[in-house]
Amino acid sequence: MLAVILQNEKIFVTSRTEITLYQILVKIKDIANALEMFAPLPLQEGFDNSGLQIGLTEAEVTGVLLCLDVTEKVVDEAVMSGCNLIVSHHPLIFSPLKRITGSNYVERCVLKALANGIAIYASHTNMDSVQGGVNYRIAEKLGLQNVRILAPKGDALLKLAVYVPVSHADVVREALFGAGCGNIGGYDSCSYNVEGFGTFKAGDGCNPFCGKVGELHKEYEVRIETVMPAYLRNKVVSALLKAHPYEEPAYDIYPLKNSWDSVGLGVVGDLPYECDEVAFLNEIKEIFAVGSVRHTSLLGNKIKRVALCGGSGASFADAAISAGAQVYVTGEARYHDLFNYDGRILFAVIGHYESEQYTMDVFKDIIHGAYPGIKVQKTTINTNPVNYL
Ligand SMILES: [Zn+2]
Repeated sequence: MLAVILQNEKIFVTSRTEITLYQILVKIKDIANALEMFAPLPLQEGFDNSGLQIGLTEAEVTGVLLCLDVTEKVVDEAVMSGCNLIVSHHPLIFSPLKRITGSNYVERCVLKALANGIAIYASHTNMDSVQGGVNYRIAEKLGLQNVRILAPKGDALLKLAVYVPVSHADVVREALFGAGCGNIGGYDSCSYNVEGFGTFKAGDGCNPFCGKVGELHKEYEVRIETVMPAYLRNKVVSALLKAHPYEEPAYDIYPLKNSWDSVGLGVVGDLPYECDEVAFLNEIKEIFAVGSVRHTSLLGNKIKRVALCGGSGASFADAAISAGAQVYVTGEARYHDLFNYDGRILFAVIGHYESEQYTMDVFKDIIHGAYPGIKVQKTTINTNPVNYL
């Protein structure tokens, strides 16, 4: 009889005659991989700096402290609680550092983290952009249904067409799907296949899979068309070359102008009921513990469809109107943003920190899902620099 019991970072393997203790080694890179499987780094915005900022990938994780912002107090808390990895939503290092002398809080955090062997990892706009990420969690808190991306990502997809001998079409197709091709919305394994024949004449020194050197050969082939995220291009091409039997496979890759509907910023969804505007504003004030909700003029509409974007999302208010939302909720906006949308949509501003606070729960679920035994805790420090009188 063998029993395996997972408890904290250890596995106890027990049998009738012996008890053996194995330590599960979870490294910084394992936590990073788990987070990046969920929210791949290439999905971050061009201005962003997500990823491992401080630390060594091979170091063993003693515990993970989650936060929205890295401050000196957060690093102190990590040290005190025995967590040598901080996972933050906002990158500590955003602009390049030219020196680290402790002249500002970023440099002091870097010094303190290095001195105490603390690694710092950020998952920012990539976590904003994926299904199940920051904005989906806000939507969940509001009880929204039929949630979808508000501003789908553009210029992020490629079309692949490859010509494969009929005998190997299934193998190559499966290899492409395995490398990340063929996902459209909730569907996977999407491809279009048409049979025809290809021609080629192998030159001296070639070793053709079929046909003979110096003779024109006609081979019945399948043209497989499928779609892929642009950031997976190298992975897909190497999978294709590995699975394809030809010495020189013929394939085409071309950019798509389609937007990627399952990736992008902001979300829109529907309340399970209609409510009036003031009731809705009071509800978000309570759910997100907002000191003061700033909003444009009430329009007298019933609220049913809600668009939102955590953080600084004022630029997606037009998308909210196009999506038919009666209200747009974001973390922060300028005076003139509110001016522009006054009378067009109920635009509510609930605070940057307040809007994104539940991101820590997203991190916790991902890390616990991958490594149930690892210590993961949310910071007890409120890093919101905004106070309300
Ligand atoms: Zn933010």
